[in-house]
Amino acid sequence: MAKLTVEDLDLKGKKVLMRVDFNVPIKDGVIQNDNRIVAALPTIKYVTDRGGKAILFSHLGRIKTEDDKKDLSLRPVAERLSNLLNKPVTFVPVTEGKQLEDAINNMKDGDVLLVENTRFEDVKDGEYVKRESGNDPELGKYWASLGDVFVNDAFGTAHRSHASNVGIASNMPQTAAGFLMEKEIKFLGDAVNNPKRPFVAILGGAKVSDKIGVIDNLLDKADKILIGGGMTYTFYAAKGMTIGNSLVEKDKIDEAKQILDKAGDKLVLPVDSVVATEFSNDAPHKIVEGDIPDGYMALDIGPKTVQEFEDVLKDAKTVVWNGPMGVFEMSNYAKGTLEIGKFLGTLSDATTIVGGGDSTAAVQQLGVADKLTHISTGGGASLEYLEGKELPGIAAISNK
Ligand code: AMP
Repeated sequence: MAKLTVEDLDLKGKKVLMRVDFNVPIKDGVIQNDNRIVAALPTIKYVTDRGGKAILFSHLGRIKTEDDKKDLSLRPVAERLSNLLNKPVTFVPVTEGKQLEDAINNMKDGDVLLVENTRFEDVKDGEYVKRESGNDPELGKYWASLGDVFVNDAFGTAHRSHASNVGIASNMPQTAAGFLMEKEIKFLGDAVNNPKRPFVAILGGAKVSDKIGVIDNLLDKADKILIGGGMTYTFYAAKGMTIGNSLVEKDKIDEAKQILDKAGDKLVLPVDSVVATEFSNDAPHKIVEGDIPDGYMALDIGPKTVQEFEDVLKDAKTVVWNGPMGVFEMSNYAKGTLEIGKFLGTLSDATTIVGGGDSTAAVQQLGVADKLTHISTGGGASLEYLEGKELPGIAAISNK
């Protein structure tokens, strides 16, 4: 990789500032899902095994008022992390000042310390000042002054320029990628810049507006783009087809037309849909080909479409998937997403990459996640990567 990684650093005795992604769901002080903490363990262990002092920073949720801080402390995460590492983790309940500095100065080689939620800096004395999310230059400089080197392992925030990623990095002589970040850059980077062909992208989800940038960028790079989900019907409208009560973004119809003209047969739209009279799992539903009849809304791709998509996918060597094929949260409209996910799991010869919160949730919920090559941890970040944008958090990592 062209970027410095944690393996390139001299860690012994160093104060290693680490940006991790501990933005986990917490309800009434109880962690609902610790996947993200588990995912950060390899880099943390690597640092501490080599005698580094691991000083961890993460955000948790969004903080706009003093009140928001009550439920968004990282303290429960420190406890879980300590259990997972099987060693003590010092939790510092502040984000700056003497208490934090003393705690860092008291660390021994191999110790782990977790700083309170970086977004506590977004509200000071009741005022929404956005010091973390606005990348306040003084804050990044201050945090950088607490350590010797910086390891960024939080891909999920790499599309944001915040004090705890870009701010620290720009005040550090060396910033390296952690293992998670390295893996994301490798898989997404290879897919976008150097894919094994045929390269097929599957794009679904609710809105065209979220994916137009991705479609535009991938039209030049992918061999086929398969479209599913709610955004299909804005394309149907652009082709002059009827869409009933299906999801449509009227202000995107013109753009959808331009994409269709540019794409030719590279863009593949569903040929049939599962349609229902209401947005409900219990509503009467049926399969229709082509146009969506009046009084119905399309909520999933149909079986012929699944077959056509599988015909394209069977020869693929690289597949990137972002966005479900239908309303997978409702069992009657989950089949398209399930079938495509299952089929991807059978492509042993291809690199299969899933990005985006909903498609990741879908493959996990459907139990096919472990058959795929790479599940991206960053929804927004992976979309921006696929759009071909430079992500500030990655740009700020030092080159080798
Ligand atoms: P996104 O966040 O854009 O990836 O969209 C994911 C959401 O799109 C999921 O909650 C799906 O239920 C929803 N979705 C997928 N297909 C459809 C559809 N045909 N109509 C309405 N919503 C859909």
